[in-house]
Amino acid sequence: MTKILVTGATGGLGRQTLDFLLQRVPPVRIAALARDPVKLADLAARGVDVRQGDYHDRASLKAAFQGIDRLFFISAPSFTNMVEQHRNIVAGAMAAGVQHIVYTGIQRREGSGFVMDQVTATENATEEMLAASGAGITVLRNATYMDALPFLLGPKALNEIRVPAGKGASAFVARRDLGEASAVVLSTEGHMGKTYTLSGGVAVTMDEIAAILSQIAGRTIRYTDVSVATFIKERVAAGLPEPVGVFLASWMQAIAAGEFATVSSDLERLIGHPAVTPAALLPTLFATA
Ligand code: NAP
Repeated sequence: MTKILVTGATGGLGRQTLDFLLQRVPPVRIAALARDPVKLADLAARGVDVRQGDYHDRASLKAAFQGIDRLFFISAPSFTNMVEQHRNIVAGAMAAGVQHIVYTGIQRREGSGFVMDQVTATENATEEMLAASGAGITVLRNATYMDALPFLLGPKALNEIRVPAGKGASAFVARRDLGEASAVVLSTEGHMGKTYTLSGGVAVTMDEIAAILSQIAGRTIRYTDVSVATFIKERVAAGLPEPVGVFLASWMQAIAAGEFATVSSDLERLIGHPAVTPAALLPTLFATA
């Protein structure tokens, strides 16, 4: 019996993955990691083996990963010492005898040298440490979450989209679809040694997003390709810490450079149905934005 542990279980992707996993395998085969297990009381009540662990505390991870065959390693949040935490996760997994690690990284363009602060160096270091670990590895390179668009576009997006994304397209993916694809990978065989790009089924430009938002709002919403400096100034004025403004600007420049434009069939092949489209999900996302 393969026992699967999902890290980041209190977060958006971990929770979606667990919800789909519980439809596919009995709870006795599932464990979930949380810094504060109280947050997962509902899963514990359903028979999931809830374990305590903190990415900053290697010993806690080694203990939490005991008896686990397959680990779903959800990357640490940006603006924390991600590489050190990832090193703890991999070392904890190896010390506990985990056979297979499924890592969630970020979509990238083949051969790209584009540098994103908080992203590129961490991704490279993590994939290197995974390759050197000796465990079986699966890498899920996740596209940008469609669910993050209200945050990425800012609080005034329903007036005008003002971001430095040029004419670049991005294959935004619904986090729900990522959860379903991740659950398939975790609960079926044949994925060791594979790298999947989990993108949406279409890549859309900011002009196309503006057209969808216009339909939602019932009026014309324009997209203006503002400069990086203007973007950061406006987002900081709207309350974002400057480093986060800089981070979002680099994300937009990555979109402009086509870093996230590739549409891959990997996700649809894994889930067996079409991916959620922006036209279908944005009305919900922006209704609550
Ligand atoms: P999320 O909702 O913020 O969840 C992050 C999870 O990580 C939470 O369960 C959190 O647990 C856990 N965590 C944070 N620090 C931890 C620590 N020191 N030890 C153990 N657990 C810790 O993020 P998400 O939406 O699920 O996304 C998952 C990851 O994808 C993010 O962490 C980030 O690396 C990456 N990401 C990707 C995109 C994209 O567009 N592809 C966008 C945003 C983020 P607590 O409840 O204890 O805080």
